[in-house]
Amino acid sequence: MYRFQKEIESCIECKKCWDVCPVNMVTEGNRFTPQGKIELLSKIVAGEELSKDEYDNIYLSTRCGICNDVCPVKIPITDIIQYERQLLAEQGKEPEKTTNICKNIIEMNSPGAKDPARRFDWVSDDLELAESSETAYMAGCWVAYNYPEIAQATIRLFNHAGIRPMILEEEKCCGLFLIDSGHLEEAAEHAKKYVDYIESLGVKKLIVSCPSCYLVLKYYYPDLYRELDFEVEMAFKIFRQLLDEGKLKPRKLNHTVAVRDACPLRSMLDVPRSIMRDMGLEVKEIFGDEVVCCGGPAGLKPNYPDIANDIAMLSVNGYKGKAEMLVSYCAFCMHHMEGACKSKDQTMDIKDLSVLLAESVLGK
Ligand code: SF4
Ligand code: SF4
Repeated sequence: MYRFQKEIESCIECKKCWDVCPVNMVTEGNRFTPQGKIELLSKIVAGEELSKDEYDNIYLSTRCGICNDVCPVKIPITDIIQYERQLLAEQGKEPEKTTNICKNIIEMNSPGAKDPARRFDWVSDDLELAESSETAYMAGCWVAYNYPEIAQATIRLFNHAGIRPMILEEEKCCGLFLIDSGHLEEAAEHAKKYVDYIESLGVKKLIVSCPSCYLVLKYYYPDLYRELDFEVEMAFKIFRQLLDEGKLKPRKLNHTVAVRDACPLRSMLDVPRSIMRDMGLEVKEIFGDEVVCCGGPAGLKPNYPDIANDIAMLSVNGYKGKAEMLVSYCAFCMHHMEGACKSKDQTMDIKDLSVLLAESVLGK
């Protein structure tokens, strides 16, 4: 019996996972369903050749996890996809772009092989950062290199409330792409180095701006390495706390907004919404109470850009007509959605939650 065989055989073919999968939503003929993905494991274990559609199906997953949520027999679909990718990588069949991005993370500490010397270009003169503190801030690759205004707004809000965190001089990529691609040994080694480094600084609380960093450090690192000696918290949870304590006082902005939710944080959807309501924003839902992935993660964007862009447009088309703008709390979602709009000659208004909160509280 191979790993996960029992779980796969427990599938009752209800097709619930078909309906919620963003890849299946934008492709014809149910060629790429989550059920179809897990059924390929026996072939991969046996080292059999896959057809093009079968092969693509393994890499056509953002590992958003929505299929896991709806499966009535609790099949760990995303773990199975990760294992399939691990086996294909071991068999030398991984997509070249996936291999290259993994290499960038290990060698350059960012998926896009950005210049490590530019990671802290976002640190402007007005920000108050501590030399040493038990509270540290990690911007994450997408914020640090693409959206300096998110990190700046976050630190300005913290400073306004009397918090002066330190930054991690050797901040690294969290390594989510390694995990999504089944490179678990490399991910474990990466986790060990990063955790040991953070703990050597005496950090007790690490605040992150990126939902993926939050997921990886808080939930994946303990499995890959060991329990951490420090707490990991999303920046917006700290904003919520500071609003409750009266240390941040928002002014009303009076807009109608829709939310671009981040899949790793779908257990706390009420927190960003409550912050928006405190700013006087009227929140409209795009997908009812469901979360639909942006379509970018886990190799979709580099390997299947057309499908990734079509998924992004579900959110863009969904908010138009309902709200004035989209509010995001994930820099990667934002980056992917902006690219998707550009590729389709479309426009959208999107703003990050922390930037909006800084405008509301600080007037900038
Ligand atoms: S994790 Fe998301 S993208 Fe992947 S199969 Fe499940 S629903 Fe589809
Ligand atoms: S939701 Fe679960 S049980 Fe239903 S078809 Fe998908 S994998 Fe099978």
